[in-house]
Amino acid sequence: QTSLADSDPELAASLAHELRRQQDQIELIASENIVSSAVLEAQGSVLTNKYAEGYPGRRYYGGCEFVDVAERIAINRAKALFGCSYANVQPHSGAQANQAVFMALLQPGDTILGMSLAAGGHLTHGASVNQSGKWFNAVQYGVRRDTALIDYDQVRDLAREHKPKLIVAGGSAYPRVIDFAAFRTIADEVGAWLMVDMAHYAGLIAGGVYPNPVPHAHVTTTTTHKTLRGPRGGMVLSNDADLGKKINSAVFPGLQGGPLMHVIAAKAVSFGEALRPEFKDYARSVVDNARALASRLVEGGVDIVSGGTDSHIVLVDLRPKGLTGKAAEASLERAGMTCNKNGIPFDPEKPMVTSGVRLGTPAATTRGFGVAEFTQVGEMITQVLDGLAASNSGDNTAVEAQVRERVQALCARFPIYADVALAAAA
Ligand code: PLP
Repeated sequence: QTSLADSDPELAASLAHELRRQQDQIELIASENIVSSAVLEAQGSVLTNKYAEGYPGRRYYGGCEFVDVAERIAINRAKALFGCSYANVQPHSGAQANQAVFMALLQPGDTILGMSLAAGGHLTHGASVNQSGKWFNAVQYGVRRDTALIDYDQVRDLAREHKPKLIVAGGSAYPRVIDFAAFRTIADEVGAWLMVDMAHYAGLIAGGVYPNPVPHAHVTTTTTHKTLRGPRGGMVLSNDADLGKKINSAVFPGLQGGPLMHVIAAKAVSFGEALRPEFKDYARSVVDNARALASRLVEGGVDIVSGGTDSHIVLVDLRPKGLTGKAAEASLERAGMTCNKNGIPFDPEKPMVTSGVRLGTPAATTRGFGVAEFTQVGEMITQVLDGLAASNSGDNTAVEAQVRERVQALCARFPIYADVALAAAA
């Protein structure tokens, strides 16, 4: 057996450097997490060799008896986690899970109603650059200017006016609780399907700290790699057996070929982890930490969109400091804290510049950060932003270097992947 470092040192170096980056930086990207070594092991397993088109017990290939076991475990755990009778764990990604639902329930040209990207929705909810916006007549709702909360009156008015065949609830930068029951009432009134894309909140829902959309939605989609802390991938859930049949056909053979059995095995492992009592503590900490971070940042003089958070997301409005998201993201990264620039509702800046950054607590909470550490993170972010503002978004090197030392000390106190063999290749 030749190790990766011996057989392909160039590629091995990129993996080793990425490992070191994850170990030494504070990950604040709200859609990321740090999977367990068990999840890594399942995903890096021999299951990657297997073709298994079809579903457990009904495959188009021989030799599927053991991958059938893995997929059945994943399906059963998904159902137990979210309280539903149907799960498809094969979508390669969140985008493909959404596409599969569209394929199952819509025809090209049908009307869909989703939250706009600018208000915190996802590309796949009808953005003009995405297939969902190109192949469907996508109507978009937003948030209220005064509260930054979803404008349910607007959702109802648009639904009555445009009679969408499907309404999408869920988003990528919406920090607050979504009223799934209100969405269902609106969907029922106009005879629309309700699809909830819970990608961002799935782990919080599994942990019982965010409302479960499954009882309200006709169909629920998700990614598995955000708060849920599994491998990159997607999933579709429902309580409607007939819908389940349609969705199965849409995933395969409608959209995909062979499922990624190694990823499905890793999904199973992560769902098993999420079913354990400790995961409830994790989910609770993720939200407590986000609230602590938000309140320290407010003390530091920025605004938080919607005034706070009910989730893992803290959407920071940088305008009180006269900074752009682009400049803040770059400076924070140099200081060892990774996040992404993000538009805020009614953002006056262009999407590649923005007036905000989106922060999230799932990854650093996994490495053990609590309220005390996130309060420090809020303090360090404030220091970087103040330095940047004082330099007129120019050279902030001295502050970045100072903060970077504190970041590294904090990371050293909460190590990750000490056991990952790749470290040797760094
Ligand atoms: N849906 C939501 C709400 C998301 O935030 C994302 C990813 O950011 C997706 C879908 C797409 O997931 P993926 O990147 O796995 O395609």
